[in-house]
Amino acid sequence: MAKYIFVAGGVMSGIGKGVATASIGRILKSKGFKVTAIKIDPYINVDAGTMNPIEHGEVFVTEDGIECDQDIGNYERFLDENIYNDNYMTTGKVYQTVINKERNLEYNGKCVEVIPDIPNEVISIIKRAGAKVNADFVLIEIGGTVGEYQNILFLEAARMLKISHPKDVLFILVSYMPVPEIIGEMKTKPTQYAVRTLNSAGIQPDIILARSIMALDERRKQKLSNFCNIMPEDIISAPDVKSIYEVPVNFEKENLGNRILKKFNLKSKKSDLKEWEALVKIIKNSPKPIEIGIVGKYFESGKFTLTDSYISVIEAVKHATFAQHKKPNITWISAEDFEKNPASLKNLNNFDGVIVPGGFGNRGVEGKIKAIKYCRKNKIPFLGLCLGMQLAVIEFARNVCGLKDATSAEFNKKSKNILIDVMDEQKALLEKKNYGGTMRLGSYRCELTPNTKSFKVYGQKNITERHRHRYELNNQYRKSLQAKGMVMAGLNTEKDLVEIIELKDHPFFVATQFHPEFKSRPLKPHPLFSEFIKSSTKKRKKAS
Ligand code: GLN
Repeated sequence: MAKYIFVAGGVMSGIGKGVATASIGRILKSKGFKVTAIKIDPYINVDAGTMNPIEHGEVFVTEDGIECDQDIGNYERFLDENIYNDNYMTTGKVYQTVINKERNLEYNGKCVEVIPDIPNEVISIIKRAGAKVNADFVLIEIGGTVGEYQNILFLEAARMLKISHPKDVLFILVSYMPVPEIIGEMKTKPTQYAVRTLNSAGIQPDIILARSIMALDERRKQKLSNFCNIMPEDIISAPDVKSIYEVPVNFEKENLGNRILKKFNLKSKKSDLKEWEALVKIIKNSPKPIEIGIVGKYFESGKFTLTDSYISVIEAVKHATFAQHKKPNITWISAEDFEKNPASLKNLNNFDGVIVPGGFGNRGVEGKIKAIKYCRKNKIPFLGLCLGMQLAVIEFARNVCGLKDATSAEFNKKSKNILIDVMDEQKALLEKKNYGGTMRLGSYRCELTPNTKSFKVYGQKNITERHRHRYELNNQYRKSLQAKGMVMAGLNTEKDLVEIIELKDHPFFVATQFHPEFKSRPLKPHPLFSEFIKSSTKKRKKAS
């Protein structure tokens, strides 16, 4: 029987519940257990695919093609395990499942009710996710903050699971301890309230992860222990850290893994966080910077800059950079700035490498095309991802092949030269406005072309990579692009689709229709990102 650990958040959002959950997973894995993790998003959206990244952050894609919350990406990166469909649920997905079952007469004429049928469905999904991978531990992160109406049914599911399996369920509260500047003291009261709110849902936390700008002192631990009914040793100090990869190491300093095992009466089978500790050492001791620019458009949120929309790209850059013992300095560049002020393109020279990541719709496209042209002409290492590849093809068609009106059907259906076109099977879906979960999603095969950079860096002919797009390179133009020097470096042979393009006579100009960033792991950087960083390092050395 698997053990279930629910992770809920108190006081406020954005305090790193996802990273905390992923870190607990890594610790338990390092002690010899099979771990999987589930994210619950209390939205009516059936999946994250229909959410704007500025609202919700990156849409992560699993091997089996689920469009989900970025935390699933954290779980995959920390656990170094693939995560599947049942590990992501939203309120909408659970209701949709229950309603479909009702329509199929699966409730045998019973009245179907919010309580207990919705929590029961949640419980059965959780159990299925654990059974699928034979997990010893299933971690379940409940999105949102305790006290919100939105996640109450999920807390109810957690409470019910504990009642039916009292020895197999544990609750962890990730809470926040503010240190208001005018008071100058760490305050425990908001966490006390959060625990009381959780109590009113019938749940007593077993462990508190106390997030704050600094470590907790004994006095605060004692206070929380008294008021929240928890042993002081189960109050884990979780101070801010520079790199998220430090979190498992810090939790272990507070003995979190053994506290969890003790509560389940389990003994650790081994203890092996060494590789992870070595990674943290490298992160802390690699002073030599590499400057990477990311040209995007999902950065601005009012007066604030968001990086969440591109989190997998950013993490993939970091993994490759750490492996080469360098310090990644990543700069967000707004594509629209190049449209308003083309003279600013020369600032791209300040970067050792430039990435144009994925995206949707017209906004910022012309700025990105200008940036790609600049990188191509000035031999700045360039990596294009999904939309980044489509725009690299359009730029080449316009400026090298002379097709001035080259574009994508996504931006202008009337143009004569549609270099990037909607796939046939997608046309019918778009006509029916059948948008949700219908893109080309998840893992597909790609065959690499011998004597290309991609073939060399992957070191093998057949690869699989994850996708999320509706549009493709229009095969009618393949020959004219090749005639001018564009290399088709990777193909999906089943559907005859171009998956990777490259340019010769350039230190690194590679663009992929898929998203390699989704498969990069901290201890296993993605080969394309590694080569991109190597080439960026060379540019830097030359310049200095
Ligand atoms: N908008 C493009 C498409 O749907 C690219 C998508 C992406 O970058 N993920 O094909």
